[in-house]
Amino acid sequence: MSEIPYKIYLSENEMPKSWHNIRAVMKEPHDPMLHPGTLKPCVTEDLLPIFCKSLAEQELNFTDEFIEIPEEIRSFYKMYRPSPLVRAYCLEKELGTPAKIYYKFEGTNTSGSHKLNSAAAQVYYAKKEGITSLTTETGAGQWGTALAMACVYFGVGLTVYMVKVSAEQKPYRRYAMETYGAKVVASPSDTTESGRKILAENPGTGGSLGCAISEAIETAIKTQNCKYVLGSVLDHVLLHQSVIGLETKAACDMYGIRPDVIIGCAGGGSNLGGLISPFMADKIRGKNDISFIAAEPASCPSLTRGTYAYDFGDTCRTTPLMRMYTVGSSYIPSPNHAGGLRFHGMSPILSKLYHDGYISAKSYVQSDVFAAATLFARSEGTLPAPESAHAIKAAIDEAVKCRETGEEKTILFGLTGTGYFDLTAYNSYNAGTMTDSVPSDEDLEKGFAGLPKV
Ligand SMILES: *Cc1c(COP(=O)(O)O)cnc(C)c1O
Repeated sequence: MSEIPYKIYLSENEMPKSWHNIRAVMKEPHDPMLHPGTLKPCVTEDLLPIFCKSLAEQELNFTDEFIEIPEEIRSFYKMYRPSPLVRAYCLEKELGTPAKIYYKFEGTNTSGSHKLNSAAAQVYYAKKEGITSLTTETGAGQWGTALAMACVYFGVGLTVYMVKVSAEQKPYRRYAMETYGAKVVASPSDTTESGRKILAENPGTGGSLGCAISEAIETAIKTQNCKYVLGSVLDHVLLHQSVIGLETKAACDMYGIRPDVIIGCAGGGSNLGGLISPFMADKIRGKNDISFIAAEPASCPSLTRGTYAYDFGDTCRTTPLMRMYTVGSSYIPSPNHAGGLRFHGMSPILSKLYHDGYISAKSYVQSDVFAAATLFARSEGTLPAPESAHAIKAAIDEAVKCRETGEEKTILFGLTGTGYFDLTAYNSYNAGTMTDSVPSDEDLEKGFAGLPKV
């Protein structure tokens, strides 16, 4: 076996030609998405007022394990993919662990995260179906930036509703989106009915992804030739993100790397779902015994403290209902620095896998996450996004366990993005002013009480 380099890059030809659809392999499908009016399982037509057709079809495709990536999307991917699989030799040394640590680094493009993988696909299909503009929400701003990049490439207009706290904490994200030609509105805003309603009920709120989604959907419905796109949670987004897992698996196979543990941070579940997809298929087929770990913030603990129930994807209860682990769509998590993980629910695919025991989950307070991020930056050089640092924290904990037991495990995690736009958060950590907020059981009960009765 050849020696393992610091960075493993596939060649362009080795990039996947199809996405991987884990639903086709799962022993049991997750419960169907329900129409919010009739409470019947959604069919393609139900999704068309919001989503374009190809994406609605992908959303409801439980049967094809592989779905071809159109050539135009592959061309876009070639601008920044394949992404490297990095052996964290320096971190291993720093920790004094016998474990081998690898990370798949998705932060090499300008948007700074994995979100571009789905943005490219969603904008391509929209353009192909004659859509002239799109709306979306963004939390920390990575999704909005990714979408702005894809929209300008394919020639589609874009309005981004950006969670207000993030818009204030990260004005540079807004400038980046505007540079790519997008219109950015801080949410909740007074430009939509949903925004005005949320503002009336919660004056002074810093907003949430749920609020921003409501505003974006309303605008899409009221604007001609306009559709809404979402950067996480939905099955078709996980499908697009499987490019991460397929590349990772190809690189692992090339060098005989056999992960024992695969870790990802989990906001809506798209990077984790994409990273684990082909590995999970092998696990379900009895070909490996990998432990999969979702790392989430203690301030928005959908998996670790949420409930498995039908819920809306947005605060204003306009989306179809999805059965998922959720802290309740009416729950507004306290502001924290990992904006990309502040979503009340979790991908229905990951929720089902978690419910069936294929995945475990851990939650972390942000000061512990930033300690891990700092250790990582100082040893590996790369400044991680706070979201990604949740996975780093979990990986370090696993590697430290190996130091204690002497086990030479192979630990692989997804490093979803860079932290260049998160320096306010790093500054707060460095200055010792960062606080940790963990909801009480009563706080969560309020969120659960607001769940729709289905
Ligand atoms: C959005 C984001 C996440 C969380 O989203 P998932 O859908 O759970 O992957 C994680 N890391 C970064 C850098 C992000 O931008």
